[in-house]
Amino acid sequence: MIIETDVLVIGAGPAGSTAAKHAAIGGAEVLLVDKKSEIGTPKRCAEGVSKNGLKKLGIKPKNRWIAAEMDRVRLVSPSGIDVWLDQENVRLPETGYNLERKVFDKHMAMDAARAGSQIMVKTLAKELTLKDHHVLVKAESMGNTTKIKSKIVIGADGPESRVGRWAGLKSTTKPKNMESGAQFEMVGVELEDIRATEFYFGSVAPGGYAWIFPKGDDIANVGLGVINTITPKNAYQHLLDFVRECKATQNAVAVEFNVGGVPVGGPLNKFVTDNVMLVGDAAGQLNPLTGGGIISGMQAGLIAGEVAANAITEGNYSRENLKKYETLWLEENELTFQKYLKAKEYLQSLSDEELDSIARAFKGSDFERIGPMELLKKLVKVSPKAMVKLGKLF
Ligand SMILES: Cc1cc2nc3c(=O)[nH]c(=O)nc-3n(C[C@H](O)[C@H](O)[C@H](O)COP(=O)(O)OP(=O)(O)OC[C@H]3O[C@@H](n4cnc5c(N)ncnc54)[C@H](O)[C@@H]3O)c2cc1C
Repeated sequence: MIIETDVLVIGAGPAGSTAAKHAAIGGAEVLLVDKKSEIGTPKRCAEGVSKNGLKKLGIKPKNRWIAAEMDRVRLVSPSGIDVWLDQENVRLPETGYNLERKVFDKHMAMDAARAGSQIMVKTLAKELTLKDHHVLVKAESMGNTTKIKSKIVIGADGPESRVGRWAGLKSTTKPKNMESGAQFEMVGVELEDIRATEFYFGSVAPGGYAWIFPKGDDIANVGLGVINTITPKNAYQHLLDFVRECKATQNAVAVEFNVGGVPVGGPLNKFVTDNVMLVGDAAGQLNPLTGGGIISGMQAGLIAGEVAANAITEGNYSRENLKKYETLWLEENELTFQKYLKAKEYLQSLSDEELDSIARAFKGSDFERIGPMELLKKLVKVSPKAMVKLGKLF
């Protein structure tokens, strides 16, 4: 059996569903496929998003997929010194809502369907070949082999993307840029503040950080990300240690376990080729500092969907034409991502002792009144290398 469509989107995560929705709004015939039988399940995410991010995408918050609202951040140093930030005083990414991703992802796919996309669940893309002016994808759908012929493929197949490789794009993430994430959703968590997202730094999670993202009075996503090349223990072992040692989780019980890769090396050099575009984690479009990729992936999906629809109208699916998406996304994000990469490198260079000194220096600070230069001066006083590593960011 051969199915024909203008645009085939592989992967119904937030980036893929958004791409499908906007390609359909633009008038293209769209098919969205996902290997999962239930879109959104299992989740591989701590589920934090910024309110502003959703607003910019034109998505109205719905109680069905919001688990909790966050307006504070607690940063905890290796020896337990905490620094509190208020969302109103400091612009922080990845805070605002903690989602119920299993519902959110499905909701986004439904939006794509409402805009006119067809959806095939339990459909695994297995092979992609570029032919003259079209793409042929071999897929396993509900146990049957299917061929899908399309003019454009949007690869939204997440951190272990194969679509990019199939299309000849250099999309493999180097091990030093791939964080391994491990997370429990837990009940019985003794939260400091149910409206505060917590981050723990240092040897608790080498190369990354640990987090507690509340989802209810005593419910939270408790997880961490590590760079495997710099620690002999895996993410799960680090997580067990964290949960045992952390006061908030000592008596908590896990009801769910998730693992997943987080590519934190920044966007791919090239994420478009003839007839193929990559969006979201598949294109490395996550914030390299926080590992947050829901909003940036959806933003990419929106642009890619619109560019794909225009390309269909124009009958031109060449890299030259599709590259508009790459250019627009980079215009909006390249500079910010470079800053986040620098901040990540600085954070990774700090010892537990240095992190403690920084936390001590900033504990109780009124961030509302500290300007960027004053902030840098204060930081350089306790961590001189901040000047070299971060100077240009201020
Ligand atoms: C532990 C952890 C915690 C995180 N916490 C946060 C957070 O708090 N906030 C945040 O913003 N981000 C977070 N992230 C990152 C976030 O989850 C991703 O950036 C986001 O899901 C990317 O969306 P996406 O649509 O690109 O890919 P995904 O959500 O990964 O979706 C990819 C989809 O493609 C499907 N697929 C893959 N291969 C195929 C195939 N061959 N055929 C068909 N379907 C296929 C998959 O089934 C999946 O549904 C976290 C990640 C991890 C691992």
